[in-house]
Amino acid sequence: MSENKLINSPIRFVKGVGEKRAALFNKIGIFDIEDLVHYFPREYEDRRHIFSISALAEGMTCCIKAPVLTMAAERRFKYNLSVFSLAIDDGTGSINVFWFSSPKYKRKFERGTEYIFYGKVVSRNGWLQFELIEAEVANKNAKTGKILPVYPLTKGINQTNLRSMMASVMDSIDRFEDVLPPSVLAKNNLMDYDKALRCIHFPDDMDDFEAARRRFVFEELFILQLSLNYMKDIRADADGIIFPDISCGREFVDSLPYELTSAQKRAIREICDDFQSGKPMNRLVQGDVGSGKTVVAACAMHIAVRNGYQAALMAPTEILAAQHYNTFQKFFGDKFKIALLTGSVSGKKKLLDGIANGEYDIVIGTHAIIEDNVEFKNLGFCVTDEQHRFGVSQRSKLSSKAEFCHVLVMSATPIPRTLALILYGDLDITIIDSKPAGRQDIDTFCVNDSVRGRAYGFVRKQLEEGRQAYVVCPLVEESESLDAVASVQYAEKLQKDVFPEYTVGLLHGKMKPKEKDEVMTRFKNGEINLLVSTTVIEVGVDVPNANIMVIENAERFGLSQLHQLRGRVGRGNFKSYCVLITNSQNDATKQRMQVMTSTNDGFKISQKDLELRGCGEFFGTRQHGLPELKVANLFTDIDILKDAQTQCEELLQENPHLYGPDCERLKERITHMFDKFDGADIFN
Ligand code: ADP
Ligand code: MG
Repeated sequence: MSENKLINSPIRFVKGVGEKRAALFNKIGIFDIEDLVHYFPREYEDRRHIFSISALAEGMTCCIKAPVLTMAAERRFKYNLSVFSLAIDDGTGSINVFWFSSPKYKRKFERGTEYIFYGKVVSRNGWLQFELIEAEVANKNAKTGKILPVYPLTKGINQTNLRSMMASVMDSIDRFEDVLPPSVLAKNNLMDYDKALRCIHFPDDMDDFEAARRRFVFEELFILQLSLNYMKDIRADADGIIFPDISCGREFVDSLPYELTSAQKRAIREICDDFQSGKPMNRLVQGDVGSGKTVVAACAMHIAVRNGYQAALMAPTEILAAQHYNTFQKFFGDKFKIALLTGSVSGKKKLLDGIANGEYDIVIGTHAIIEDNVEFKNLGFCVTDEQHRFGVSQRSKLSSKAEFCHVLVMSATPIPRTLALILYGDLDITIIDSKPAGRQDIDTFCVNDSVRGRAYGFVRKQLEEGRQAYVVCPLVEESESLDAVASVQYAEKLQKDVFPEYTVGLLHGKMKPKEKDEVMTRFKNGEINLLVSTTVIEVGVDVPNANIMVIENAERFGLSQLHQLRGRVGRGNFKSYCVLITNSQNDATKQRMQVMTSTNDGFKISQKDLELRGCGEFFGTRQHGLPELKVANLFTDIDILKDAQTQCEELLQENPHLYGPDCERLKERITHMFDKFDGADIFN
């Protein structure tokens, strides 16, 4: 069988994998051999050196080689747990080796036989001892002498299984065919694919590993770059709708009760230029929470409708969609007809008909807008709010409702411009870098449980002044239902025991959309003084009179999420506060809290988030809507990212359609990436 075929054969054909194990692998996204060999180690165990017992020091994780002096002794201290120990002597000294295990399972050691013990040197009562991880007879088949991969595991698959499977796959395939063209390898001094794959799993030394890793980081970023570039090209080649009259935007701006900031004006100007360029707009507006992105979108929608087209806006939550609907009704009065389309609205048939026959000028909604049954008469402009909550595929699905209509995506999780320029290679970028006049920084405090009473006192003081408050509930776990239950109890307690003289409201994800709507309206109208909420208010919610937020279990949230949550206050001219409550003494938590209490700048915070968390999670769909990066760390690998970017431009200049056999595998990968983006057919 040719390598190509073999590498795409299902995981079940690997030695040692049956139906059952194959299903386990499928669960973690491994379907064929190619997926398996791309399942990279999380770290390595260096078993190359054997240390003499006299050289051991506390904290070392290493190998020692010695014959067994005394046989294993057992001390049981629980029904199903014993500690076993034996003494060894390698001529330079002796040490006690111990391990914990079930009494039923006894390792066999023979007195006098020489073993290699791999484990950790610990100190107990002032004596060095050796906590065993693994032992094997010291013969020529021993694993010692190698650097061993440590894979992230899943239930039912252990380290030894995975290592031996990986090794047998490596043995069974003579050569893994490279994805990158030879010219790209040469120019960037990259290790070839076959060698890099073998090195990343079973490196001979750490230099080897570094070179292999660099190659995979490059590959990952390079393919992402190429894919984004294609996406951009497809749209750049298309004809865009031209809106001849943009002066009507002025009319909208003049109707506002406030003066736009210069950053907002600049954003509108850039959008207007796009509207007249003859190319479809594909623009990202990045602006910190509270910088006033909604009004920019509204102005652009006004222009689209005035020019005879429909406009749509998609928001990630029902709460936010309903809020935008209300805001837009205020903006446009009865000049335009606006539809609210969410999963739960009633009279959907009539709405859909109205959208299809052009009765509605503007459609605001959730994911419901991109469902197949929604047809527009002449959609000319669509906006995705809080785009980081949607995948690239969803945002492209909205624009596909009308081929090559103008697209605006808005994000409040800003990232540094240099990075954004590369990562959102398919988008033009506008940054709203200032906030409306009169906004004050939010004072943020981090406290522990013991001063909760004082925190409530501080909240009361704000309520007495006529302000409103958010209390973000204790998170129970990653389960919306359990969090909902916790929030109900918490709200009851606050109402009864702490704030009996005020009205406490409750908002959680399990409530019916209509109930959520009612609560939000009552909060907005000031009928609810204090809103207890789960993270459903994380994005977009805008109630300028609310000026204080208490966040429980602050340690459970990432930096970007905390910043988003906090962004619910500080949206008016009132001095605003955020109280983070946590008992965690964990270093990473302390660092995050320190960042939160020292800055309000979303750009700084996201930079820090990136630094502290690495990129996997940070750039997952939830945060930025990009495919998750497996190897690259955008903070530490920024130089490789730049190289990949440059190389991408060069290659596309030389060979824009990626013709020729050298690029075959590369094209396959890009197409695969587009499957994830749910995008167009790019190579026809
Ligand atoms: P975000 O950028 O987080 O989406 P919004 O668009 O919700 O922010 O705006 C936040 C608040 O600021 C809203 O209450 C909005 O009415 C108000 N706002 C927007 N632009 C201005 C401005 N130029 N002057 C004063 N207030 C403004
Ligand atoms: Mg917003």
